[in-house]
Amino acid sequence: MTKFYEVRKRDGAARLGFLSLHEEKKQTPLLLRIDSLSAGEEVIQVLHAEEANFNDLFQEELHDIPRGAVLLPEVHPLFTKVQEAIPSLCVDVYVLSFASALLNSPREFVRRIIYARNAIVPDVALWVPAIATAENAPLLFYMGVDVIDDTNAVIQGYQGIYQVEEGAVDLNEMEELPCTCSVCSSLTVEELREQNSKERALLIAKHNTLLLEKEVKKVKAHIRAGSLREYVELKVRSSPFLTAVLRLLDIEEEEYFEKRTPVARNHGMMANTMESLKRIEVKRFASRVLERYEPPMRKILLLLPCSARKPYSLSPSHLKFREAIERYRGRIHEIILTSPLGVVPRELELTYPAAFYDIPVTGYWDAEERDWVASCLRAYLERNAKNYEQIVAHLNGAYKELCSGVADDLDINVVYTCEEGEDVTSKAALKRLKERIAELCGDTTRLSGFEKKPGMLRAMADYQFGLGAGNELVSRREGEKMKINGKFPKYELSVNGNVLARIVPEYGLLALTLKGALRIKQFLSSYTVHIGDFLPKGSIMAPGVVNADEHIRVNDEVIFVGEKAVGVGRAKMGGWEMVESRKGVAVDVREVEKRATSAKSTS
Ligand SMILES: [Zn+2]
Repeated sequence: MTKFYEVRKRDGAARLGFLSLHEEKKQTPLLLRIDSLSAGEEVIQVLHAEEANFNDLFQEELHDIPRGAVLLPEVHPLFTKVQEAIPSLCVDVYVLSFASALLNSPREFVRRIIYARNAIVPDVALWVPAIATAENAPLLFYMGVDVIDDTNAVIQGYQGIYQVEEGAVDLNEMEELPCTCSVCSSLTVEELREQNSKERALLIAKHNTLLLEKEVKKVKAHIRAGSLREYVELKVRSSPFLTAVLRLLDIEEEEYFEKRTPVARNHGMMANTMESLKRIEVKRFASRVLERYEPPMRKILLLLPCSARKPYSLSPSHLKFREAIERYRGRIHEIILTSPLGVVPRELELTYPAAFYDIPVTGYWDAEERDWVASCLRAYLERNAKNYEQIVAHLNGAYKELCSGVADDLDINVVYTCEEGEDVTSKAALKRLKERIAELCGDTTRLSGFEKKPGMLRAMADYQFGLGAGNELVSRREGEKMKINGKFPKYELSVNGNVLARIVPEYGLLALTLKGALRIKQFLSSYTVHIGDFLPKGSIMAPGVVNADEHIRVNDEVIFVGEKAVGVGRAKMGGWEMVESRKGVAVDVREVEKRATSAKSTS
């Protein structure tokens, strides 16, 4: 189906891809120059290349949208060009017609783009014409738009509207040109004002287009780095409209983004805004701690505050906590309280995003932040408090307040080891922590039973593949010699000399070998890709995928099975996308083996 568009990299719903235009490959996110629509007829020609197949959805929308709502003056020649291009579209690019109606309301903006993206197959590009500005372009791409154009930049140029990254400025109100593009660095604002109207319009239009071009480049860099969400949170600040769009997306389009958000990245996650609390990564972590985590049986639950350094274990404060409780660790289960992730069991501290987030630390917590973290703690305690004999909280300030609020609500007795105004790492507080723990354990001899390494591998496997997978992976079977090699955080699990799994701290994931995957195969049904009758060499492309579980997300560890091969690798697109796409890499293969017997006899 898609001969002309291929997605190469994803960051949430945003994509880097290649669109073939007139024999030339153009990278998306793509800024189409309005001139090219008429001059070379490039776009139109390519779009004619296959039988025009104008989706009913968009036909309908042509009648649906009131013409009066269109931003572009209909008499303008550029408008006709865009309009002419619309019906000529076929299967590789869809144009959201009368997109300017999106600007009527944030809700309309969200509804129409998400609706369009959901209605068309994933490996087709979506072009939202005529509304892009340097201000809104990052959000458009974040939502899954692939192509924009400079219509708005040019039209506004003709209207004397000088665009800036945060919106637009009236040329008459400016004292200086706040830009270094080729136009703005060659003349002053007075000189620009003094130009005749046609020259001035051309110059401003050129500046506006260059500014938009720069923005597109920035977005590409953020997609490559996996940081577009952070950039969008920053960008929407300039406009209540765009901020409202992002908030609506987070609340109302959770499913759309959940399907597209990778399980892990090799990139830090900045949680600097209120919107960060609503990120898929945050919600996913919190729900997996409840659904895919089984706390070990320990006498004491110890609640600790987070640290700036990640993983927490390597931070100076956590080294001190550890020193205080070392002797009793076999009896203690450690949970770290943090914003925005809520509760992080010690065993999951290496998991994405627990080892990857960064937050502004001031000691003051917003009500929303406090409510969210309290709700995570409450949910955890409601489920697990009964398994502990005693809960100890080595917390102060906002952490302590929210903990005591939750404990009161649930009528749970908590021992606090930090007094009002006392630092958690102060000698007095650490001494109190040590003494209280010793008292509660009722023994001063070193208590054994603390199994850090297997506990961590078990919890990470459960988190990634579902409850039970971890036990299956790390439980020794008869005749097996099990070993965990490596220094924290690079643990490697092997049985009889064969590696089963290793922690990949760069991604906060557990990577399986084929032996490891086959050992826990019964737990991998949600992470299985069925491939065709071939032996993969290199990556598995989407057309080679026969079926894939819909739960698979980008960067998930997957097992792939076909008539001729079985292997493990990392998903490069969601399972749903593997099935719907006809192009692009579906799985990066790590290990593959020929299946010995013919499929007919094994299946
Ligand atoms: Zn400029």
